Amino acid sequence: MRKQIAAANWKMNLTYQQAERLLDEILQEKIALGPDQQVLFAVPFPYLVLAKSEVDEVHGYAIAAQNAYSKVNGAYTGEVSVEMLQSIGIKYCILGHSERREYFNESNEQLARKVELCLEYGIQPLFCCGEALAIREAGTENAYVQRQIEESLFQLSDEQVRQVIIAYEPIWAIGTGKTASAQQAQEMHAHIRSVLAGKWGKETADAVPILYGGSVKAGNAAELFASPDVDGGLVGGAALVAQDFVQIIKALK
Ligand code: PEP
Repeated sequence: MRKQIAAANWKMNLTYQQAERLLDEILQEKIALGPDQQVLFAVPFPYLVLAKSEVDEVHGYAIAAQNAYSKVNGAYTGEVSVEMLQSIGIKYCILGHSERREYFNESNEQLARKVELCLEYGIQPLFCCGEALAIREAGTENAYVQRQIEESLFQLSDEQVRQVIIAYEPIWAIGTGKTASAQQAQEMHAHIRSVLAGKWGKETADAVPILYGGSVKAGNAAELFASPDVDGGLVGGAALVAQDFVQIIKALK
């Protein structure tokens, strides 16, 4: 069975003290994870080392970065490299979140480079894709998401793409309280899997976890995650409340 993943995206929230408390409250629950279940916390850069030291001994829990730059190193003031993440033992990194695409103009081409760099340095990318409301209203969301995947992932080998985690996050559902229905999520996830199968074959497509993101809450996680092609969630707002995220972890298949 492919990995079932509950990933918290803290975005640019929480002070150091609040972050420490939130992580403690969640870990105190000692939720026993199955062999194919994984919990990730994508925390702001300054908290990576602390957060990693807190989860290191806990089975199935790991820390992710929220972004990394598309160059190996050099004169890029303010950026953080994949090599730096690797050097502190980070194994996961969100790439191409819609907020990065919108506010920092990240393109599919730049993301292709970031994905390659992460894989080169042994970091599994959580590659985000998803359409804006206007695209869904026009009925062209399948083609749009397919293009994001083609332009950022299709250069990868079979072995490489098996290290990628995809997060489908319809922009109209992120932070809006408007969740995609379980059927809408399943339909898009099945489409994404068919795009992967078309390029790398069914066996590889079946090995890639595809998470849903967009107003996942304690109350809707179980229904969303129950769909056959939904392998967990990437969670923003609800991941900032310990008891809510605990319920989301418990909703994993
Ligand atoms: C996200 O940050 O990726 C996200 C899906 O946010 P929210 O759960 O708040 O919609």
